[in-house]
Amino acid sequence: MSDVTGNDGGELRALMARVPSVERVLASAEFEPVIAAYGRTQTLDTLRATLDAWRADAQAGRASVEALSDARLAQSVGAGLAKRTRSKVRSVFNLTGTVLHTNLGRALLPDEAVSAVAEMLTRPANLEFDLDTGARGDRDDLVNGLICELTGAQAATIVNNNAAAVLLTLSALASRKEVIVSRGELVEIGGAFRIPDIMSRAGAKLREVGTTNRTHLKDYDEAIGPKTALLMKVHCSNYAVSGFTKEVTLAELALLARTRGLPVAVDLGSGTLVDLAQWGLPREATVRETVAAGADLVTFSGDKLLGGPQAGLIVGRKDLIAKIKKHPLKRALRVGKLTLAALEAVLRLYRTPETLADRLTTLRLLTRPADAMRVAAERIEPALQRMIGDKFTVSAEPMFSQIGSGALPVDVLPSYGLAVRLSSVKRAGGDLNRIEKRLRDLPRPVLGRIADNALRLDLRCLEEADEAAFIAQLDAPE
Ligand SMILES: *Cc1c(COP(=O)(O)O)cnc(C)c1O
Repeated sequence: MSDVTGNDGGELRALMARVPSVERVLASAEFEPVIAAYGRTQTLDTLRATLDAWRADAQAGRASVEALSDARLAQSVGAGLAKRTRSKVRSVFNLTGTVLHTNLGRALLPDEAVSAVAEMLTRPANLEFDLDTGARGDRDDLVNGLICELTGAQAATIVNNNAAAVLLTLSALASRKEVIVSRGELVEIGGAFRIPDIMSRAGAKLREVGTTNRTHLKDYDEAIGPKTALLMKVHCSNYAVSGFTKEVTLAELALLARTRGLPVAVDLGSGTLVDLAQWGLPREATVRETVAAGADLVTFSGDKLLGGPQAGLIVGRKDLIAKIKKHPLKRALRVGKLTLAALEAVLRLYRTPETLADRLTTLRLLTRPADAMRVAAERIEPALQRMIGDKFTVSAEPMFSQIGSGALPVDVLPSYGLAVRLSSVKRAGGDLNRIEKRLRDLPRPVLGRIADNALRLDLRCLEEADEAAFIAQLDAPE
């Protein structure tokens, strides 16, 4: 036998003979806890794979006989199983400073919604069953009353997300017809949602009017023709057009639409149900104001500023909603019972605006007092400094958070957190990416943001209830 290791055939054979029998290893005291934790089947499979890997190493002259002890095998099989069986879905600490972070699951749900979902998961419910008449019901009816009460709309329907709401609206009302949209509002939202693409998917023809910075009422007026089905306004969720600009207001557009006998749809994106200015937050048109200003249909997300589960809400004129609900895509895009349970629980909180900032998690995070975050930063700082060592300096300092998910893109919220910087530019050997990775490798990963030679951990989304666990993890990362 020829090999690169210098082992002659006899030596290799002798080495291979040291591989123990799997049955004997599994029966050892060292494997008892591993089998108790993962079961015999998985443990056996992993042990076999570990021994195969050892044999391959031995062929390559890289194996040590010590690795074959019961203790070492139990340790490596246990570690392998722990990693392999860990849930792919993991909780993280969102210290990115973006409250509604699309990649981290957007809005966090309040306890009321969590209990409603738990109940829905474990008990049959009147999802499509009218308890008054005993006849078949409509799942939308579980939340329609509340939505109409909170928005002033005549009717509502719910689908999987706002992208679906826009797709369904256009498919039901404008297929093979034209939809007029200002060039200043041809939005791309992250994750391949682009108004022109959605339009063509829905079989509607986009009729662009105006220019990027200026669109006038007469631009819409002149574009209306026999094929026009809809005038549409899209909220510029993730950008702002400023400078020499002109936008037609919804009220003006609605008036034009009325005189020409056409409906106006507004894709509002975030869809706030209350005026955020009352908590000192930037102002954003509410759904109710949008309906009152003359929108015949409004589409918005459930998990942005509304603070609920992923969903797309379509509200507006009764006849148009009825038409939308009859479209076959509605069945394909409908929401499940868990979404409805969570959405109802969240919407109910809006009936008591006095306690909303306390009970609606999204709003509570957005209105968190800077003082609370400053005090938290000072409490956490020593533990973080201990964990990362003296090559880096941790300092508690003011920073800015964002609302996120395309809500109020240019507004920032004064916040407080911890910044990590290299202690000295001369000291080599450490960089921020390494610290960022260490934090991300923790059992509950900590996610921050690197900018301007600092790793920033914005504490807005670390609520007090989670703080002790956060510090404990820094102190004992294993
Ligand atoms: C966020 C957003 C969407 C997409 O909503 P999802 O709920 O993510 O599908 C569509 N339009 C606008 C204007 C948005 O801001």
